[in-house]
Amino acid sequence: MLIYLATANNHKLEEIKGILTGAEIALFPCYDPSMAVESGSTFEENATIKAIALSKLTDSYVLADDSGLSADALGGAPGIYSHRYAHINATDKENNEYLLSQIPGNAPRTARFICVLALAKKGLLIKTFRGECEGTIAFEERGENGFGYDPLFVLPDGRSMAELTPEEKNRISHRSAALALLSDYLRKNRDTNSG
Ligand code: IMP
Repeated sequence: MLIYLATANNHKLEEIKGILTGAEIALFPCYDPSMAVESGSTFEENATIKAIALSKLTDSYVLADDSGLSADALGGAPGIYSHRYAHINATDKENNEYLLSQIPGNAPRTARFICVLALAKKGLLIKTFRGECEGTIAFEERGENGFGYDPLFVLPDGRSMAELTPEEKNRISHRSAALALLSDYLRKNRDTNSG
């Protein structure tokens, strides 16, 4: 089955292709973030808004994701504002520096990455899938791999997410946890979803 991915982020496409091997995944043709305004207040709402809007434009399945970082010391921020935490056009570097500036020195550093995937077809939401990955926020960036907040996100084994190989990240990430749930759902509903 063909699933169009509603994203402009090539890192996400590669990660999702690496994990969801049972389906044909392609970027939504001519996808532009302005095709759906993420006006929701939760990851679930934003992923659903995107999936429904884009699925009205094709007969194929559409998968949309909304993801981000939730830091306990910041009451869950940056959350759904992760990609524009420092400012609207912020680079990853600016967001990471801003994140470090916002966490008081003695505050707990616990945090989690969250990914919600929404699967839709012909304007109807089929289901959402949520994955999480627990860690802590480092005091400085480490590692060259991945993207976004990966260099600041420390896993229980002491490595930052940016120090993992792509294969290692795919085994433990919030995105892979959400994709595992999606994969399971697609397997169990293969007959219903074969169109
Ligand atoms: P989205 O494209 O609206 O889902 O924005 C997600 C933002 O959250 C990204 O721009 C990153 O800043 C952050 N983010 C999401 N997933 C990851 C990840 O796997 N690693 C690092 N940062 C992530």
